Amino acid sequence: MANIDEEFKKRLVEIFGRENVSDEMEERICASYDATRRSALPDAVVRAQNAGQICELMKLCNERRVPVYAQGACTGLVGAAVPFEGGVALDMTGMKRIIEIDRRNLTATVEPGVVTADLQKEAEKAGLFYPPDPASNAFSTLGGNVAQGAGGLRCIKYGVTREYVLALDVVLPTGELIRTGSLAVKDVTGYDLTALMVGSEGTLGIFTRMVLRLLPLPEEIVTSLCYFRDVENAMDAVSAIIAAKIIPRALEFMDDECARSVQSEQEFDMPPDTGAVLLIELDGKRALIEGEMKRCVEICRSCGAFEVFEAYSEEDCEKAWSVRRAISPALYNISPGGKINEDVCVPRSELTKLLHAVKEISRKHEVKIVCFGHAGDGNVHVNALVDLSDESEAERGHAAIREVFETVVSLNGTLSGEHGVGVAKQSYLSMQIPEREMDIMRRIKRLFDPNNILNPGKIFPPAPE
Ligand SMILES: Cc1cc2nc3c(=O)[nH]c(=O)nc-3n(C[C@H](O)[C@H](O)[C@H](O)COP(=O)(O)OP(=O)(O)OC[C@H]3O[C@@H](n4cnc5c(N)ncnc54)[C@H](O)[C@@H]3O)c2cc1C
Repeated sequence: MANIDEEFKKRLVEIFGRENVSDEMEERICASYDATRRSALPDAVVRAQNAGQICELMKLCNERRVPVYAQGACTGLVGAAVPFEGGVALDMTGMKRIIEIDRRNLTATVEPGVVTADLQKEAEKAGLFYPPDPASNAFSTLGGNVAQGAGGLRCIKYGVTREYVLALDVVLPTGELIRTGSLAVKDVTGYDLTALMVGSEGTLGIFTRMVLRLLPLPEEIVTSLCYFRDVENAMDAVSAIIAAKIIPRALEFMDDECARSVQSEQEFDMPPDTGAVLLIELDGKRALIEGEMKRCVEICRSCGAFEVFEAYSEEDCEKAWSVRRAISPALYNISPGGKINEDVCVPRSELTKLLHAVKEISRKHEVKIVCFGHAGDGNVHVNALVDLSDESEAERGHAAIREVFETVVSLNGTLSGEHGVGVAKQSYLSMQIPEREMDIMRRIKRLFDPNNILNPGKIFPPAPE
């Protein structure tokens, strides 16, 4: 139990209003978990309506040394929003206004609780495009996306959330409100505090207003699915497509285990003996992208694709994507006891080496590992299918994942391409980040949050004695 008494609760009610403060068990349970199986109860839940309330909350909690956790939709996959040390869960989903879509400057000014897909739809109405597209976009909030530096399906062409954040209003753990960045497209004035905030996992400050970059909406989209006998051929095709100077907006892959897993789920038959699948999507002017898609298909065939489904209508594109969307439900059905889901990322040229190594690791530890992901980015979702309630199976799964991480680091990759560290990857962090750099990061945290009250215990493993 954090340092919370009746006087503290009275202050919360004064700040947020009685209807926006609760210590009822039902509400505390709702605020206790994210999309991992981790959970911990906060002592109280408050629902914010404006930045002023958050400044007051942080001053109060800083004075009383009470932990605070900003929460969006709690779809995070690393435990970053889970209130492990008790204290106050700060629900940001009520701050969900799209304040402005500026067509002249191609920006959107939003509150952090806006659901990602809602901004995408609103931008489309103005003929504009917000490209970051995490698969959770129907639920996740833009505040959570910025805090986790979310990726998604279109990063090969459009980059990650980081590329779309121009300016932020941020309440610091000590209660001051600061403004980072500017509305200018170019800005090299001083240290880039906006970039520091992106991916800070709710540990440095709470975003209360965000200015995001938009692009013109691409005119058309075409998609194709290419089936290969093995993953090498598929990865050769990925390299050849890029070498042909074609940059798809999505370039997704499935390995053989993944293809087998979705076979029972999808709406149309996957060819027998499929060893790898590529989904290629291009956007732009129809005349150009149809020609480019034909070229991609030629490249895939020359690299060994034995069957291709080309989708030039909206209906067929949907059909192609249904294969990709079938992955998560299929893995759940195959492994109801759980899975260890990692999102490692390596330079694109190292993908084949990584996928081979994963096969070896899977054999060695006798753990089924399914790989799929964003081949265009070198970002692989490595899923060890283990029953997490079975101690020895879970142990084998974790040992396998540790070896996957070792391999990734040896290939100059990173432990997380999109989900972040939270608590899930904390114990592996030193494999990638040397102590000197880790110390700089810890000092940055202390500078912003001297009393360690904002989302404590996340990202960093305990400092060495
Ligand atoms: C089915 C599924 C698919 C997913 N697909 C993807 C994907 O393709 N790509 C990807 O990158 N991720 C993906 N994710 C992970 C997750 O959706 C993202 O990390 C997302 O950005 C989290 O948003 P959220 O609103 O749920 O944040 P939460 O989980 O509520 O919080 C995440 C972190 O953000 C902080 N935070 C929240 N709001 C604020 C704020 N206003 N100010 C400061 N910090 C804040 C929290 O403190 C916490 O540390 C997926 C998750 C699921 C369940």
